[in-house]
Amino acid sequence: MNDHRAPMHDYTPEIDELADDILAYAKDRVSLDPTPMGRPASAEELFEALGPTITEDGIGSDRALTAFTDVLAPACLSVDNTRYLSFVPAAPTEAAVLFDLVVGAESIYGGSWLEGSGATYAENEALRWLCDLAGLGEQSGGVFVQGGTIGNLSALVAARGAAEAKLRDQGRYRPNRWAFLVSDTAHSSVPSAAMVMDADAIPVPTGPDRRLTGDLVARALDEYGELIAGVVATAGSTNLGVIDDLASIGRVCNERNVFFHVDAAYGGAALAAPKVRHLFDGIELADSVIIDPHKWLFAPFDCCALLWRDPDQARAVHAQHAEYLEFLDVYGDWNPSDFAIQLTRRARGLPFWFSLACYGTRTYGEAVQRTIDLAAEAAAKIEAAPNLRLAWEPGLSIVVFERIGWKEGDYQVCTEKMLADGTGFVVPSRHDGRPVFRFCFINPRTTSAEIDAILAAMA
Ligand SMILES: *Cc1c(COP(=O)(O)O)cnc(C)c1O
Repeated sequence: MNDHRAPMHDYTPEIDELADDILAYAKDRVSLDPTPMGRPASAEELFEALGPTITEDGIGSDRALTAFTDVLAPACLSVDNTRYLSFVPAAPTEAAVLFDLVVGAESIYGGSWLEGSGATYAENEALRWLCDLAGLGEQSGGVFVQGGTIGNLSALVAARGAAEAKLRDQGRYRPNRWAFLVSDTAHSSVPSAAMVMDADAIPVPTGPDRRLTGDLVARALDEYGELIAGVVATAGSTNLGVIDDLASIGRVCNERNVFFHVDAAYGGAALAAPKVRHLFDGIELADSVIIDPHKWLFAPFDCCALLWRDPDQARAVHAQHAEYLEFLDVYGDWNPSDFAIQLTRRARGLPFWFSLACYGTRTYGEAVQRTIDLAAEAAAKIEAAPNLRLAWEPGLSIVVFERIGWKEGDYQVCTEKMLADGTGFVVPSRHDGRPVFRFCFINPRTTSAEIDAILAAMA
């Protein structure tokens, strides 16, 4: 496509070649095992290697593609690498990744039923599976949004809407500033969402087990009274994998008619694993739940399932109104854009739907269980190692441990060395004020030998 005179919307022979090159590259990347770890680069280094890529005349597709494959892609870490155990990694299935190419090619507008009925129908089927795993009832439904952060924000806005409606019905004034009660293990996106709403996120101090309970919530509700627009429990805290006591919290919230949101962005995938499903008992009492398929349900970025017990509660605050939006509902009134903060949206749930359809739900449960087993295996190895100390019983697929005798700087050096020599990617975290290492297992293809190699590098 170096003939820049060809109109850029024409399918020329050069574009046909480009299509082959891009499909071949994508196919090759999907088939790689292991995927390259990649490494971070500085902006100066990247400029040095590439020069300007955006020019008046264009650099042509060959150079643009080579810039990506040879310089830019290697400067991105492969979160799907089996030795990437930091933060929350990802491990999209082959089918999901390949289908993502199709979603891109299709130009689907995923915001309304009118424009994207087929896509929305399929996304809804995947969302139904998640709603049913959580036990939210047949009236429940949801939408796929960008990530847990937008999911949490959308949920808190609906909680505030419900709280305001309640006061309005009683002819009473709203407080000047709303607040949410949140687990003290809550993800940073929860206080961030409250801040965006000019509200407070009040962390409720928990005991040594780090679990928020109904008693703690009841006491805090007594203390803060009608300032509270909702309660946010965590089902799988990001640092430790702790699941709050959802049943007792749900009971208190339901009794007092307070909106109950469960942030299961990371942990919610484990609803599919029968052996640990009981840890989530009470999630069925939630008004809203988020689960990130881009974390532990093997979908490509970006994909968060935002689930509503009563979708009308979401519609009431999130549906946008405009003259040109009024004619949308002839073919169906389930418009995904009505259920979160968004209007235009990619049908980002489709790769997840396609993969679920291909492999079946049982395979998903087994893959999640496999990573929980990996965490247990790693914990056993850590307990057996003389210079390592398990800092927390593994919660779901997260393992947190100390390297005896090491200070913060030692952890950092070890992390950099492991990244540089390809042993793995494990960043330090903090627990009880002390530096620790933290593994988060998402990739069912991580092997025992890989765990051994990483632990050996810490010895
Ligand atoms: C990851 C995470 C989030 C944020 O989700 P994003 O998809 O990264 O926006 C929120 N809550 C919990 C518990 C998480 O683990």
